[in-house]
Amino acid sequence: MAGKVTLVGAGPGDPGLLTVKGRRALENAEVVVFDRLVGPQILALIPETARTIDVGKEASRHLIPQEQINEILLREGQAGHQVVRLKGGDPFVFGRGGEELEVLSQGGVDFEVIPGVTSAIAAAAYGGIPVTHRNFSSSLHIITGRAKRGQDPVIDYEALVRSGGTLVFLMSVSAAPKIVQGLLAAGMDPDTPAAMVENGTLPNQRRCDAVLRTLPQRAAEMGIHSPALMIVGGVCSLGPELCWYERLPLHGRRALVSRPKNRAGTLADRLRELGADVWEYPCIATEPVTPCPEMEEALRQIQEYQWLAFTSSTGVEVFWTCLRGLGLDARALGGVKLAAIGSATAGALEACGLSADLVPAVYDAAHLGAALAERASGRVLLLRAEEGSPALTEQLEKRGRPYRDIAIYRTQYSNPRSEQLRQALEAGELDYVTFTSASTVKGFVSATGADVDYSGIVGLCIGEQTAAEARKYGIPVKIAAEATIDALASLAAQS
Ligand code: SAH
Repeated sequence: MAGKVTLVGAGPGDPGLLTVKGRRALENAEVVVFDRLVGPQILALIPETARTIDVGKEASRHLIPQEQINEILLREGQAGHQVVRLKGGDPFVFGRGGEELEVLSQGGVDFEVIPGVTSAIAAAAYGGIPVTHRNFSSSLHIITGRAKRGQDPVIDYEALVRSGGTLVFLMSVSAAPKIVQGLLAAGMDPDTPAAMVENGTLPNQRRCDAVLRTLPQRAAEMGIHSPALMIVGGVCSLGPELCWYERLPLHGRRALVSRPKNRAGTLADRLRELGADVWEYPCIATEPVTPCPEMEEALRQIQEYQWLAFTSSTGVEVFWTCLRGLGLDARALGGVKLAAIGSATAGALEACGLSADLVPAVYDAAHLGAALAERASGRVLLLRAEEGSPALTEQLEKRGRPYRDIAIYRTQYSNPRSEQLRQALEAGELDYVTFTSASTVKGFVSATGADVDYSGIVGLCIGEQTAAEARKYGIPVKIAAEATIDALASLAAQS
C-alpha cells in the first residue's frame, strides 16, 4: 500500500476535544510523529504496534528543527507507512502544517488533513470568553506573538485597532508588554478589557482578567506561563460571568483513580467531567486463575446448582471466557438462577445476554449473602476473587445453605513502590484517592509505603468494608451513598 501522511489536529488539551475522525486516524496509524503540546491521554490512543517519534519543541530551544521534521515525514511516507502527524490545536493555525505538506507534495507523498479545535477559540471558550458577540465585536483576528526564527513579527497594530474586532495573540506570554505597547501606540483605549488564559481546556487552567494597560503586569504577578494566549476586546468583560469551566466542582482538584487499568475508564471520565485533574494510577491488577479445573468442572455440572453468584464484573468476564472456552454458551446455564452483587456486575452479565435474578438492595458481600441465604434452597456456586470477603459465606453458613466457593481470579499489587506517588503525597498535590475495594487500598498503601502521612487526602470509598481498610492506615474517608461509580464520583463533588 502507498504511504500516506495524515495531518491531525489534536485539539487544545482536553482529550475530549479530539475529533472523531482524528481519533480514527490515530487508531489506524503505523507511525505517529507528535509535538510537545499533545497531552498524555491523546497519546494513550496510539496503538501499541505503532512507532512514535517525539519531535516536541521548546519555545527557545528547538529540539528538532522544522527541516528535519519535514524530512522524517517524507522518509516515513515514502517508505509506504500510514503516518499520523499529530499537532496541538489545529495544524494550520500557527502549526506549520502548510510547510510540511508542501514538502510532501513535492516528494510525491499522499497526504490528508484532519482539522483540530484551535486553542485560539477553545481556550477562550473554556475561559468564558466568546470570541465574537454581537454587542462587542464582529470580527476575530488570530495573531502570532512570535515570528520565524525568534524575530519580532511585523504586526499592523493600526489596522487591528481600526478593525474593532476581538484580538487573540498566540505565543504571546513573553511578548505581552510589546504587544500592549503596540496597541496603545496605535490608539487603542487603555481600558479595553483583556485577558490571558493559561493551560486552556486543561484541569490546571487559569485565567487572568485585566484591561489592556494592566494586563502584562497582572499576568506577571500571577506567574502566567506558556502555553497561554492573550485576548483583547470587549468580549473579555464576559469572562468572570461565563467562566463555566473554572466553576466545575472539582476544578483545580487532583484525584487519583486506583482501579485496575481496564476498569478505570468510567470513573476517571466522570471525575474529569466534574473538572478534576485525574491521575490514573492502577494500584492493583486482576489476573484470572488459568487453567481453572475447579471452575471447568463446576460449569460442566452446572445443573447441580440452583444459584450462580458473582461479586464483580471481572468475575463475570473470567467466567464467560471459561464457559466459551469449554465450547459452551448461555444455554448451558439452563434454569440456574443468577445473582450479582451490584448494578455494574449485573451490567456485565447483561453484556453476555444474561439477566440477574437477584441484586441486593445494598451492594456489598454481606447483603448479597443474606439475600441468597433467604432465596436459595439448593446449592449456590460462588465464582469470585481468591481473597473474596468472608461476609458472603458467613451469611450462607448461618442459614445452613450449601455452597461452593471457587477462586477464579486473583489480585496483584502491580506497583511495589512509587517515589512519584510518595512525593505527590508529601507535597500535598493530591486531594482525593478513589477506592473501589479493600484491595485497592492495600495496593495504594504498598505503592506509597505505609510510613507516609495521609492526613491531607480524602479517600473516597465505595462502601463500608473498603472504608474500614482505609481507616486502618489513617486515611480520612468518605463513603459513597451507594456502591456505584456514579455515587463515588458525586461524593467527590460534594466534598
Ligand atoms: N496550532 C495550535 C497553536 C500552536 S502555537 C492551535 O491551533 O492551538 C502554540 C501557542 O498556542 C501557544 O504559545 C499558546 O499561545 C497557544 N496554546 C496552545 N495550547 C494552549 C492552551 N491549552 N491554552 C492556552 N494557549 C494555548
